[in-house]
Amino acid sequence: MSVSARPVVTVVVLSLLAVASPWAGVPGWTLSVATVAAFTALALLGLNLVFGVLGMLAFGQAAFVALPGYVAGMLEVAGLPTLAAVLAGIVVTVLVAALVARIFVHLPGTYFAVGTLGFSFVVEGLARAFPEWTGGASGLVFATGRDIGPLAWYALSVSALLAGLVLWHLTVRTDRDRRLRTVRHDELAAAVIGIDVATVKVRMFTLSSLFCAVAGVGLAYYVGVLVPEGAGVNRSLEYVGTLLLGGAGSMLGPIVGAALVQWLFVVAGYGKQFELLLYGAAFLGAVLYARHGLVGLAAPIWRRFVEPSDSGRVKPAAHAGGVGPTPSPSMVPSVASSVAQGAVTAGTQPAMSEALRVERVSKRFGGVQALHEVSFSVCHGEVFALVGPNGAGKSTLFNVICGVEPPSAGQVLLEGERIDTLPIHERASRIGRAFQVARLVPGLSVLENVVTRLDQIARDLPEGMRRAAALRQLEQFGLQGLAMHDVGVLAAGQHKLVDLARAAVGSPRVVLLDEPAVGLTADELDHLRRLLMELRASGCAVVVVEHNIAFVSSVADRGVVLDGGALIAAGDFATIIREPRVLEAYFGVLS
Ligand code: ADP
Ligand code: MG
Repeated sequence: MSVSARPVVTVVVLSLLAVASPWAGVPGWTLSVATVAAFTALALLGLNLVFGVLGMLAFGQAAFVALPGYVAGMLEVAGLPTLAAVLAGIVVTVLVAALVARIFVHLPGTYFAVGTLGFSFVVEGLARAFPEWTGGASGLVFATGRDIGPLAWYALSVSALLAGLVLWHLTVRTDRDRRLRTVRHDELAAAVIGIDVATVKVRMFTLSSLFCAVAGVGLAYYVGVLVPEGAGVNRSLEYVGTLLLGGAGSMLGPIVGAALVQWLFVVAGYGKQFELLLYGAAFLGAVLYARHGLVGLAAPIWRRFVEPSDSGRVKPAAHAGGVGPTPSPSMVPSVASSVAQGAVTAGTQPAMSEALRVERVSKRFGGVQALHEVSFSVCHGEVFALVGPNGAGKSTLFNVICGVEPPSAGQVLLEGERIDTLPIHERASRIGRAFQVARLVPGLSVLENVVTRLDQIARDLPEGMRRAAALRQLEQFGLQGLAMHDVGVLAAGQHKLVDLARAAVGSPRVVLLDEPAVGLTADELDHLRRLLMELRASGCAVVVVEHNIAFVSSVADRGVVLDGGALIAAGDFATIIREPRVLEAYFGVLS
């Protein structure tokens, strides 16, 4: 959630008030309940970074809450001073989390979830297996270092929570917010525009564990005893339930969830038997009715009173009926724009020199030979068509070129340099790719979608210049009228044109377009044709996969025809498309 300064201040003040409410007269809301709630909220804020913001199914987070307590407690027993033991507990936990993350983030969603559950079992299991160190089932008792008085504990917990809120705000803002949303929505699209997805996830997971570790060590010392269940799967899922109740993905959700659950169980504490029912209701309610929890339900009211001043995001409803406010180029400082122009859109590649070379590339999927020794090269300033019947290997070839799939054999060279061993995000600045089905991030505006690519490939530019450059790109593409629209409200054809604008921003050497004409109206086709001509004129090498032969004939200079993974024709496009074996392979299948 991107939050601008005013709501942040309000949030902080409100949460201060809420948590400072031991004196607010809420029945049962004592200093100790508030302290536990603040620590719990901090742990949930950590969980929220991975579960709420990135959508990672982190189901073992309690392990990172309990681990620092166990480490600190055992070190203290071994003779370390309290403060050193606490620090060691936090450091060890974060290091373990970094290691776990490195292993787990490469797993697909469900395996990640199962892996984190397994980790939770392991930590609880260790706590039970070695009672001589951990206290076993009856728990590890903290005898020293906790005698600072209830008020000091309360101040400590609220300070930790406030520090957590500040860190959260710094982590989830502007360009970082865009990056995280993109990763959450579509990891492949994220990688193709230059985001190092695995590193983003590892960092967020590790940072999340820092929140949990600080909260956990605080809770352990405050409560004075740590039992194995504290690390377990049930506790982890309770955290998820509490977060869902409050509102996953928002900054306030963890505080609302933690405060409400603490209050319910202490005040209505006689109703401890309702605990599971409440978590169950939170899970079901969140899934079925309120994906953003109580905070999400309250959001419309909230917005009425504290309108976010963040200009980048536009609610779909606000624009469903018309064109939104579009910043004119004159709003962009001219110095900034000229710098940005030079830095990211200086599209002057030498014409007709080789941009891309594919050399004897083969790709095998098990028994399927998707590509067989395919070779061709594409020059700067040319539109190159890649055609062939369905299953010919066109998309696979794009995947090999931009790094989604490694080739089984052969090489890919970009301006003479081998790139087939580079990870996908490292090719992004030089290769832009638009997808067969446009993969934009809903919830972000058109402009933000385009800026996100510049965030990666033009990191050195300040935010304002990146936005200016993205806006100029939209102007060049005749899409400036859509700049502030949420992509969720765009028509299919507009989606594809915006995807193309994103792929081509920042002057990549090569732009790969997978069926750009599909779903476009006649006007949009003309628009697309003009854009391809402009890209060609800028010196970009444009590779187009397209079934609409009339369209592709009108734009392509040269091309190749693939059939069953092999090249069956190459050369001047108008000529090859009339060759008998091409007609047979291509139109024979299509007709
Ligand atoms: P096109 O884009 O020309 O329609 P594709 O490149 O998508 O063709 O597919 C070429 C062949 O490779 C097809 O037989 C397809 O089933 C196979 N293929 C593509 N991707 C994979 C994959 N990830 N795993 C297994 N087979 C694949
Ligand atoms: Mg395809």
